[in-house]
Amino acid sequence: MLQVRNLSFSYNKQRVLKDLNILVDKGEILALVGPNGSGKSTLLRCLNGILRPEQGRILLDGQDIQGRNRKWIARHIAFLPQNLEMVQHISVYELIAMGRSPYQTMGWFLNKEDRKLIDWAIDYMNLRPLQYRPLQKLSGGERQRAWIAMILAQDTKIVLLDEPITYLDIKYQWSLMEIIKQVRCQYNKTFILVLHDINQAMMVADRFIVLKDGCIRAHGHARDIITTHLLKDVYDIYARVYDLNHFSRPIIVPAEIS
Ligand code: ADP
Ligand code: MG
Repeated sequence: MLQVRNLSFSYNKQRVLKDLNILVDKGEILALVGPNGSGKSTLLRCLNGILRPEQGRILLDGQDIQGRNRKWIARHIAFLPQNLEMVQHISVYELIAMGRSPYQTMGWFLNKEDRKLIDWAIDYMNLRPLQYRPLQKLSGGERQRAWIAMILAQDTKIVLLDEPITYLDIKYQWSLMEIIKQVRCQYNKTFILVLHDINQAMMVADRFIVLKDGCIRAHGHARDIITTHLLKDVYDIYARVYDLNHFSRPIIVPAEIS
């Protein structure tokens, strides 16, 4: 279980996260949404220990992550950033193998367990035919799948994904949503996902946290919180929220503006 208590963070005196309190259960899929600049990426970077909170604590199964080294955190929390650096001259297999780096103790040596997890991640993400391809010779979508496979090979309880579907076509966007749900069911991993598309977020998430200006504007189940009023307040858009009987979730559509 991941707990955020009274978390605040500033960049050069500009307060970007303001006294956040969040509880994420084991095996939960949490969608983190909100307008650009609301602090979503900053929050994920704090959760992963890349940024040190100005105030507050982040507890993983009751243990404060502050003071833990990067390798310890990386064995528990995997993080896929929003803007992935272009890694050159490395194959898909090598990238996915990098997911095992938090477990290396003496130099670089992949043991049987490492190789088993790498192979599992390759198959899980359907990358076997591409495993020896250099990363720069993949399409944007294929490369994104390779990064996700790297994160899976990292074998952590918690996975943080910052806008993971931005570069995927709709088939792979939906497929990634299914993969996330499947990984959660099979391995009880916890996911925190930054997603822009509210409808897609509602396809996958158990619960939402809506951020604006570094504050939590709403949190809870989509049915309870995603309302016309909230969307106007947070995004300044006019939307209708439909709860169609044959959908197991609401959908939002633009309201006609006359
Ligand atoms: P989001 O991911 O929701 O779009 P961010 O967490 O990236 O939001 O940014 C939150 C705020 O912090 C924005 O106002 C942004 O300009 C600012 N910010 C983000 N990164 C930095 C940085 N490295 N230095 C200074 N300000 C930053
Ligand atoms: Mg961001």
